[in-house]
Amino acid sequence: MSIPVSTRSSTRSVVTKAGGIYIHVPFCRSRCIYCDFYSTTYGTEWKQSYVNALKHEMQLRRAEVDSSRVPSLYIGGGTPSQLPPTLLTEIFQSINDNFTLTKDAEVTIEANPDDVTPDWVDFLRQTPVNRISMGVQTFSDALLRFLNRRHTSRQAIEAVQYCQNAGYGNISLDLIYGLPGQSFKEWKHDVQQLLALGVPHLSAYALSYEEGTNLFKMLQEGHVAEVPDELSFRMYEHLMDEAAAAGMEHYEISNFAKPGMYARHNSSYWNNSPYLGLGPGAHSYDGGNIRRANNTSLKDYIQATDDVPHQIEVLTPEEKYDELVMTHLRTASGLPLGLLTPKQKCYCLQMAESHIHSGNLVQEGDVLRLSRKGIFISNSIISDLMY
Ligand code: SF4
Repeated sequence: MSIPVSTRSSTRSVVTKAGGIYIHVPFCRSRCIYCDFYSTTYGTEWKQSYVNALKHEMQLRRAEVDSSRVPSLYIGGGTPSQLPPTLLTEIFQSINDNFTLTKDAEVTIEANPDDVTPDWVDFLRQTPVNRISMGVQTFSDALLRFLNRRHTSRQAIEAVQYCQNAGYGNISLDLIYGLPGQSFKEWKHDVQQLLALGVPHLSAYALSYEEGTNLFKMLQEGHVAEVPDELSFRMYEHLMDEAAAAGMEHYEISNFAKPGMYARHNSSYWNNSPYLGLGPGAHSYDGGNIRRANNTSLKDYIQATDDVPHQIEVLTPEEKYDELVMTHLRTASGLPLGLLTPKQKCYCLQMAESHIHSGNLVQEGDVLRLSRKGIFISNSIISDLMY
């Protein structure tokens, strides 16, 4: 149980003094049925007000980041590619005014394939963006329609090619597996198609039914059914094998990359590094025990005159331990036991014992990590190790 210590009236800040910056763009043209990220379908008139508020938040919170050491900027959402180029330019100008990115900073923008045109990519080349992340989800047009995605399989392929033709080599694509009615053959096609595009990074997630989404409602009402675990495991195993054959490293449970192409920004989350989150719904972390969550209301965000509405929570030692276990064990490099207090380490090894014995976990020196066998039941192993 975390301790909520303040709301918008707080003057306490999450001083990160290092790490990356995340900007949340809360606009989507339509809502996908499975998504529980914070976004609105508000129109153009809200976008300028949002960017004005974002610039204001950057000014207010610039001291929370060590301005000489910003190694990654991630513009996510929502759908950042729904912002017109003029507004994206304003955001980059404000970034430039308030922060200093390192020379080799990773600058990522999320884009929906149907927003990616040759003109848009040409515009992007004029900005600091050097990495593009696209939510493809599947190459089946029928499943894309079912999910209420706006793009087609052909648009996704063309979008990647437009980016590659413009010189963007650093592209990440997202896929979802275990979709209702998705066959193993369809999944094999998705993996094959994605790998054929030659991108250096992919993220693949098992479909989850999040409360509050249309998909969750459909499940509750019996209109869709979850795929059997056995099929889901088979899909995941196929992905692991094919990605490895394509020279990709499985560096986090859901993430695969060519050597040297790991997502720097996401890696900082998994390594519990500090980061500053800007925009409604964005989260910040000080690298210690303080987390901050901006409220999920675009209206309140725009109307704020001082600090934007937010909540701060102080993690208890037990919660901090749980986070370390959860994030590090998901990575191929595993959990360095030296990050734990002696008491926590003792508890962790005690809880891990049966999994080490059965080969689900491997202890190498002072590091604990999932074996290939353990990856398939990672959730239950992680939960067993937590307080
Ligand atoms: S998946 Fe992406 S495009 Fe779809 S509703 Fe969520 S944020 Fe918007």
